[in-house]
Amino acid sequence: MSEQIESLLQKTQHTKDELIRLLSVQSAHETQLVLDKGLEVKAAHPGRKVYLRGLIELSNVCSKNCYYCGIRAVNIKVERYTLSTEEVLNAAHFSWQQGFGSLVIQTGEQKSTRFTSQISSLLQEIHKHTNNELTITLSCGEQSQETYKEWRQAGADRYLLRIETTNKELFYQIHPHDKNHDFDQRMNALADLKHAGFQVGTGVMIGLPNQTIADLADDLLFFRSLDVDMVGMGPYIEHADTPLFSSAHLLWSPSERFRMGLIMIALLRINMPWINIAASTALETLDPLGRQKGILAGANVVMPNLTPVSNRRNYQLYDNKPNLDKDASLSTKTLNEVVSSIGETICLHESGNSLHYLKRTGLF
Ligand code: SAH
Ligand code: SF4
Repeated sequence: MSEQIESLLQKTQHTKDELIRLLSVQSAHETQLVLDKGLEVKAAHPGRKVYLRGLIELSNVCSKNCYYCGIRAVNIKVERYTLSTEEVLNAAHFSWQQGFGSLVIQTGEQKSTRFTSQISSLLQEIHKHTNNELTITLSCGEQSQETYKEWRQAGADRYLLRIETTNKELFYQIHPHDKNHDFDQRMNALADLKHAGFQVGTGVMIGLPNQTIADLADDLLFFRSLDVDMVGMGPYIEHADTPLFSSAHLLWSPSERFRMGLIMIALLRINMPWINIAASTALETLDPLGRQKGILAGANVVMPNLTPVSNRRNYQLYDNKPNLDKDASLSTKTLNEVVSSIGETICLHESGNSLHYLKRTGLF
């Protein structure tokens, strides 16, 4: 049987059936074959390098009610916050000084014009205070085409908007079925982002209730068909104060969700060798060595959390999110040690643009 897996792993583009076969590996040996191939393909393409992005969770104010997310609008247990400009600039400055090269600004979804302008002016201020040496990724949900264009012009380079799952039926099991949570609209938003000139990232959650291996194969094929530049995906982790918690009995075990998370990274790396792939915080939540293991399966981006420690407990998308009490310098030091101990190099003072993006735009 392992010969069949080994021969499938020689291919660089897999069909749905082949992906299903590879996603179905069970034994530790065959799992390792897949993960090793992910690392081999990474080493031969972007190389054994890790890029850092300082993560700023700007605000937990959100107008949506995704069934899986701890900061959904109706969760009254969450104390809502928005960081001040000064707090964001401090985090950006820290990132710049540490040589991270890049920032991610993530928020709940807010659509007011006030919010749009706040992001635009933050982008401009950050660039001004960091000598234009940081690239910035936004992850602020679905917005209008005009807003995307405005933010792109104000200095955002990349945008991350996960499709969450490409199975439309499953999408409506994990979101309310209303115009605020519309599958086709989310798809269109990804097209708008490309149109606005962003390096575009998307992703899914892995191990959702009722999600199948075939769904995950479709997710991988979707990333390829959209020709995305970056992917951030990770295991679904339940949150006790959300509606999806009532389906917790349907879930794969945490270790199985973790294993599938790694296999997804490896298969994505094999099929899209030049893209940026993040080792998600959710991986680290399920396994203390999650980030390292993600990197060793083919991921090349890590996002140390720069959100002020006092706000972190209010940005709990899922239960047991790690590093609640650590400050960023501690995480950075640990990261440095950790990354070099597994034979990888942290790239400091580099923007870490998606080579896939540079290739598709003729810059590489
Ligand atoms: N509001 C923005 C960005 C913040 S949420 C948006 O939704 O796009 C960022 C990501 O966190 C989501 O895309 C989702 O994939 C992930 N997330 C939310 N709840 C989660 C959970 N319970 N388990 C794992 N990931 C989760
Ligand atoms: Fe809001 Fe994003 Fe959470 Fe959905 S996943 S409730 S949009 S923060």
